[in-house]
Amino acid sequence: MATLTDPQQALAQADPAVASLIAQEADRQENTLEMIASENHTSSAVMAAVGSCLTNKYCEGYPGKRYYSGCDYYDEIETLAIERAKELYGCEFANVQPHSGANANLAAFFALLEPGDTYLSVVLSDGGHLSHGLPVNVSGKWFNAVHYPLIYDEASPEYGHIDFDAVARLAAEHKPKMILCGYSAYPRTIDFDRFRKIADDCGALLMCDMAHIAGLIAGGAHRSPFPQCDIVTTTTHKTLRGPRGGLILTNDPDIAVKIDRAIFPGTQGGPLMHVIAGKAVCFGEALDPSFKTYAHQVVANAKALGEHLKQAGYGLASNGTDNHLLLIDLRTIDPELTGKSGALWLEQAGIITNKNTVANDPRSPFVTSGIRIGTPALTTRGFAEPQMKTVADLMDRTLRSNGDAQVIEQVRSEVVELCKQFPMPH
Ligand SMILES: *Cc1c(COP(=O)(O)O)cnc(C)c1O
Repeated sequence: MATLTDPQQALAQADPAVASLIAQEADRQENTLEMIASENHTSSAVMAAVGSCLTNKYCEGYPGKRYYSGCDYYDEIETLAIERAKELYGCEFANVQPHSGANANLAAFFALLEPGDTYLSVVLSDGGHLSHGLPVNVSGKWFNAVHYPLIYDEASPEYGHIDFDAVARLAAEHKPKMILCGYSAYPRTIDFDRFRKIADDCGALLMCDMAHIAGLIAGGAHRSPFPQCDIVTTTTHKTLRGPRGGLILTNDPDIAVKIDRAIFPGTQGGPLMHVIAGKAVCFGEALDPSFKTYAHQVVANAKALGEHLKQAGYGLASNGTDNHLLLIDLRTIDPELTGKSGALWLEQAGIITNKNTVANDPRSPFVTSGIRIGTPALTTRGFAEPQMKTVADLMDRTLRSNGDAQVIEQVRSEVVELCKQFPMPH
């Protein structure tokens, strides 16, 4: 057997400049609260696979049908990843080759739509993703995206939820070829039954992009998009806690053939086999019973954090959460406070978030009136409900500080102390 070198050691010797930057980044991750809803801390096992010799090889094609020699072990690795993905999500077909979530969506569109075809989705500013029809993205430029709204009436008990009456109306009016559900900033459970009914009524395919909630679904903390959805795309690096990458699933054998062709040779060349090995490891971890506990704790933490923030006077999109994320409307504590300033102060205090538009936001995407936060990464570090009160308090003091350096400095030191109590898992 070949000896395995310590990759970090090798890097430090070969390229101290890059090694030092990586070490500084590891330090940043260790000493800040990672609250970006789409991020997580993956395991050393996943990172070992991604940092392995598997990066060396071309494997264009699929297991048993490659265009290059020497792919035996790669065939086994990819097959393992496929089998585990199918088991994890209880479906018949999986393509583990998409380089990212956006690539998975591009391949899904390429497989199932013709240029100019109409589909329904949520606009970016209401919590959709740029690959769901932004005019500057291929999904908006080459296809006709019609956007369905949320319920914007703050007096409604359904405020911030999907407006299913509008979805049905738009479906009847536009006869879309596909309806897309699954979002980047939507704090509520997705009702796949209602989408299926509307899709059936207008003869559309139903696609779910579960990028944000893939880990919750894997752990049983959000209902599965199967059997209602015809095709499911996702990233593997958000709540699912794997390497950066994409994945496409279906139960339909015809769609499966189209998807495989749309990935290779349709939109990609050689697969990233080191990342596919990382996906196999990640799926293995997510199949372990402990992942169920993790997924449920992510949701419990988000709910607890939401309650504490509400008690501190913050308004939340849809008034709360069913999943891993919260969208804070900063106008509820200060009409002048923007997402841009809030996220900057929080970053200075060591709390990493992102500015985000809220429903019907009058401010631009560069300024925004909201902040999106999530609990996947904190939960990986072992944070539970008691820490959510502390985190809410740290956030509240920072957001009400008006940027005061002394307040932010004090919060920063408390953040470092908290991080020390919850070291990064390895
Ligand atoms: C994050 C995300 C993606 C894109 O993932 P990338 O890996 O960044 O390309 C796609 N769809 C949704 C809903 C997402 O939240």
